[in-house]
Amino acid sequence: MKITKVEIEKFSAPLEEPFRVAFGVIEDSDSWTVKIYTDEGICGVGSAAPIGFVTGETMETCYLVMKMFAEAFIGWDPMDIAGAHEMMDHIIYGNGSAKCAFDIALYDIMGKKKGLPVYRLLGGTNPVVHNDITIGINTPEKMQQAAEKFVFQKGFDILKVKVGISLEDDIEALTRIRRSVGDKVRIRIDANQGYNVETALRALKEFEKLGVDAAEQCLPWWDFDGAAELMAKNTTSVKLMLDESIHTPHDARRAAKLGCADFFNIKLMKCGGLYYGAQIADIAEAAGLGCMVGCMQENKISITAGVSLVAAKKAIVEADCDSFMFYKGEDDGIEGGLTREGGIFTLLEKPGLGIEL
Ligand code: MG
Repeated sequence: MKITKVEIEKFSAPLEEPFRVAFGVIEDSDSWTVKIYTDEGICGVGSAAPIGFVTGETMETCYLVMKMFAEAFIGWDPMDIAGAHEMMDHIIYGNGSAKCAFDIALYDIMGKKKGLPVYRLLGGTNPVVHNDITIGINTPEKMQQAAEKFVFQKGFDILKVKVGISLEDDIEALTRIRRSVGDKVRIRIDANQGYNVETALRALKEFEKLGVDAAEQCLPWWDFDGAAELMAKNTTSVKLMLDESIHTPHDARRAAKLGCADFFNIKLMKCGGLYYGAQIADIAEAAGLGCMVGCMQENKISITAGVSLVAAKKAIVEADCDSFMFYKGEDDGIEGGLTREGGIFTLLEKPGLGIEL
């Protein structure tokens, strides 16, 4: 099989409202869709959702890089995914979102060729994934209202709460949320690099009292020493997770070796797609660590790929693949991929991603 044509199209759908995290505000919901055509009539789809302050890519730079890949892939065997990554890595360093779009489209093609859903292609057998929903930073009152809506109206029972600008506000928001939703709802937090070691240790003690399961990326992305120190000094039951620190399998290996985390948050846009995402999960499994798959402002194309990775890998025990529900109307309008009921996502038994564009 050979790739004959590559198309890149912008996907735009408005967000319900801007999404604030400690490190920035996500106002832009645009992404690039790639369609890869083959000489066997199979077409694969993928998606790139760059966020400048996470992957160092803007929509414009991502497009330029994708154009370079599009030319390089003409005549390529789409089943050669390892070779495809080697080729892309030789063209340009980083640029995880651009690489991810092509990676996902190649797995979609492989699934269609073999007649298997992507999660089965990756070794999974159970299509059901239990997903959380995220509450952005706002006033503690508004965050409490969001939690009540998600739990009591929408049926979610795992909340991820964004914190990291003001510890006092974080504690107040989490206290209100816990009081509102009761003890059965699981809560994890994401500080998006907003604390230092001292603040984080203080925060963890307070969060433990509020029944918080896990705390994500307390420290700046580059601070592996601090992350190891925090792990060593954390005497609470709150598990520590790294997100912005872990882009590649090399980052995961380093963090595992230094004892920097209990969990890694794998995002396909950071690591360049399923090929390296699976490697991070395998590194975690070998090191006795856990993983979650998270997302950027992604639509259902890459979300389905991310959920497929969760379904396939033993070490991935948490899922934070919620971004497509933050578009206006609580859906991105893309058909297929998965069905959902509250936080329970079920992947479709269709070849490839099962996405219909
Ligand atoms: Mg995060």
